[in-house]
Amino acid sequence: MAQLNESKTQEFIKLENTWASPNYTPIPVVLSKGEGIYVWDVDGKKYIDCLSAYSAVNQGHLHPNIIKAAENQLNRITLTSRAFYNDKLGGFLQKLCEYSGYEMACPMNTGAEAVETGIKVARRWGYWKKKVPKDKAEIIVCENNFHGRTTTIVGFSSDPDTYGDFGPATPGFVKIPFGDVDALKAAITPNTVAFLVEPIQGEAGVITPPQGYLKNVYEVCQENNILLIADEIQTGFCRTGKPFCFMYDDVQPDILLVGKALGGGIMPISATLGSKEVMSVLSSGSHGSTFGGNPLACAVGSAAIDVLVEENLAQKSQENGKYFLDKLKTLPSQVVKEVRGRGLLLAIEFTSAAGKAKPYVLAMKERGLLAKQTHETTIRFAPPLIISKDEIDTAFNIIQDSIKMTAPNL
Ligand SMILES: *Cc1c(COP(=O)(O)O)cnc(C)c1O
Repeated sequence: MAQLNESKTQEFIKLENTWASPNYTPIPVVLSKGEGIYVWDVDGKKYIDCLSAYSAVNQGHLHPNIIKAAENQLNRITLTSRAFYNDKLGGFLQKLCEYSGYEMACPMNTGAEAVETGIKVARRWGYWKKKVPKDKAEIIVCENNFHGRTTTIVGFSSDPDTYGDFGPATPGFVKIPFGDVDALKAAITPNTVAFLVEPIQGEAGVITPPQGYLKNVYEVCQENNILLIADEIQTGFCRTGKPFCFMYDDVQPDILLVGKALGGGIMPISATLGSKEVMSVLSSGSHGSTFGGNPLACAVGSAAIDVLVEENLAQKSQENGKYFLDKLKTLPSQVVKEVRGRGLLLAIEFTSAAGKAKPYVLAMKERGLLAKQTHETTIRFAPPLIISKDEIDTAFNIIQDSIKMTAPNL
């Protein structure tokens, strides 16, 4: 039986590898079911999900309230286009704006589209309000950023795997080191319209900036009439222990980009938010999306926000994140060089003596925990925010055992 199932796994892997373009190298596990913090493979083996689809499943797999909202909407209407009004969009955007503290939102689908929307808003704002000369707008970004995969966005990536041979890059972007306020000051010119930044660089390996970084860059942006654009596509919706990571710094970025967990683990839903003044540069006909703001997405997005509020997931993420982080700090220092993160966006970085991260990831998979290495020496742990302390204990024991069994004799 076990052998039969084993071949079933291999069959699905072979099928996917045959027909899917090779732009991913998945961990060799084939998932067919999920519930809460757990996922099951085609053999029926159960795993704790410590990736949460890159933080898109903060509410847990198949959250009953979100599924119910989707089912109800599936029986009414799912897609209208924005050629017409629909009875779900206004209420959804009101909820999203009130939850995050903004006046207006532009609904899109994927995170990359929210980033593109933010770039378009910032450029237009620059030409219309700041009076930057035509086609001269500059946006400052950070090294090791991750903002998505469109041609414009990869054009200002500093990772050759991401941008290599996809050029020519879109002009108008300037890179500075992350976490460095003076570098921002030095990079500003009269044509700078925005500074685009992740409050914590998730894909780069959960890189956390110095205390007060966002507050400091916000003040620099204010003084220089520059928009601060916070990409909270990964850090948002309680992942780091507050509804949004910017709330730790007591500032309100001019533009907020959200996605991932807004879709409640069901479908891609993203948005770009700002003040009425800023968002109004998106005049009629200047921007849009066929699926953006569709009634199904609005019903799912509304339910996804309700779950975060009703289940107090910000506080839970903050408390349980600290609990998890303190446990990770007890891992042997000959193997784990650094443990970092905020809320339930955590990572461990291996020492050079410990070797690469991937064998540890595979060892965790064997023991029933799914995580993924970012770059070669880091593993991110970002379980659904509904995880309990007991479940964190179980996850930690798997991590600890896997490290013990995999690390070379140091
Ligand atoms: C995932 C991510 C994106 C891109 O979102 P997609 O939905 O994959 O397009 C952008 N920015 C950050 C910080 C992300 O983590």
